[in-house]
Parts: sequence; C-alpha cells; structure tokens
Amino acid sequence: MPIPSRIAAAERELSELLAYPQERLATIIKEVGFRCDCCSRCCTRAFNGHVFLLDRDVARAREIDPESIEPAPYPEFCDQNGTFYVSGYALKAKDDDSGSCHFLENNRCRIYDNRFSICRVYPYMLHREPDEQGKLDWRQIAGLDKHGEYHTEIPESLCQEAAAETREYETACIRQEISFLTYIQDYFSRNQLRHVQKTYDDRMRGFASGDEIRIMVFWSSRLEEHRICNAR
Ligand code: SF4
Ligand code: SF4
Repeated sequence: MPIPSRIAAAERELSELLAYPQERLATIIKEVGFRCDCCSRCCTRAFNGHVFLLDRDVARAREIDPESIEPAPYPEFCDQNGTFYVSGYALKAKDDDSGSCHFLENNRCRIYDNRFSICRVYPYMLHREPDEQGKLDWRQIAGLDKHGEYHTEIPESLCQEAAAETREYETACIRQEISFLTYIQDYFSRNQLRHVQKTYDDRMRGFASGDEIRIMVFWSSRLEEHRICNAR
C-alpha cells in the first residue's frame, strides 16, 4: 500500500479508537475479570514474538540498560539501495529455549516497578482485528482464555484505570506509526528513495543466511543507523 494510503488508514484507525468509549472498555474489563497468575509466558517468545516499545519506553530502557533493546523485527520498508526502515525498537530476548525477555530473571521481571507501557497494559488491548469470518471487530483482551484466571472481582477504580491506560497506550502506538510514515514519506522524497519489494525480499533472504543488513530505526523524530546480522 502506498505511504499516503497507509497514513490515511492509520489516521482513520486513530479516529475510531478515540471515538471508542472508555466506559465500554472498563465494563468489559470488569465482566471478563482477568487476573494474572504470574506464569511469565507473556515475557517470552512462547506468547509474544517481540515486545515493541514506544519512544518514551526506549528512552527509559536506555537509561536502565542500553543493551536491552534492538531494532524491531519486520521492517516496513527497504529502499533501492538495500537499506531497511523500521518504526521503532523492541526488547531484546535472551538466547535461551523460551526466548525470554532481557529483563526476565527466575520467571520474574527484574524491573517490574519500571516496566514499559506494553508490559503494564497487557493483556488489555484495544484494536480491531478480523474474526474467523473476516469481519473486523474490536478486541480487548489478548489471548483470551489461554492464560491467567477469569471472572475474578476487580474494583471499579482499577477497571477505569486499566481502560484509560490501555486506550492511551493504543493511541500512542498509532501516533508513533503515523509520525514514522510521515517522516519516511518526506525522507524518501528528499533523498530520491523508494521502497522496492524485490530488494526487500532479496536482502531478507540474505539476512536469514547470515548477511549483515543496514537498518534505520525511527526514534524521537529521527532515524538511527544500525548494522545487524542474524546472530540475534
Ligand atoms: S499476563 Fe498472562 S501470560 Fe503474562 S504472566 Fe500474567 S497470566 Fe501469564
Ligand atoms: S520488561 Fe519485564 S514485564 Fe516487560 S516483557 Fe520484559 S520481563 Fe516482561
């Protein structure tokens, strides 16, 4: 999809999200009554392929441990010279059997009080995904019935707090994506660059076989350069 269409689609998504009543989300949180049983699977690749960070979380991760982040996987673009572009950073996973988060130790988060936005709101979410029939509908709980406990009593104030935090997190994600797309549109135009899918596919195949790639990561309204190979 061309970049202007992607920006327009993200802006529509943002308007729909802002129009979603927070009260409705709080009611669903109350009805589902989810309680975390601290199994820690969401801090491993068993549950989450990667943990994407908002700009503000990247700044904090760098303060805590600069080695804790890496360019997020699945870059959105690759130009005709073979340089990739991705909208942000993700938490590094350890090279253990479960691909556990850099900060997970003995099944506990060692920065729990300082954990990042996504770690705070999970498993609550608020975006639209297609159901089995392909019909787009809102989803509010990730991995429903696959983890944790249900139908527990959650105080009204906590439901409201979780709903507000979740909606704020989701809007921040979309705003970050819109900023990235707008920046890339302008950057490509100024530097006579264009996305080339074939170059993307060729370079990704090379990357999978151990070649180094150059990747530009969008952070704090600029691009940061990295060179990575598949020993991640
Ligand atoms: S949120 Fe779910 S997956 Fe994560 S630790 Fe709690 S119960 Fe386990
Ligand atoms: S920072 Fe903590 S809560 Fe977040 S994924 Fe890592 S271990 Fe889990």
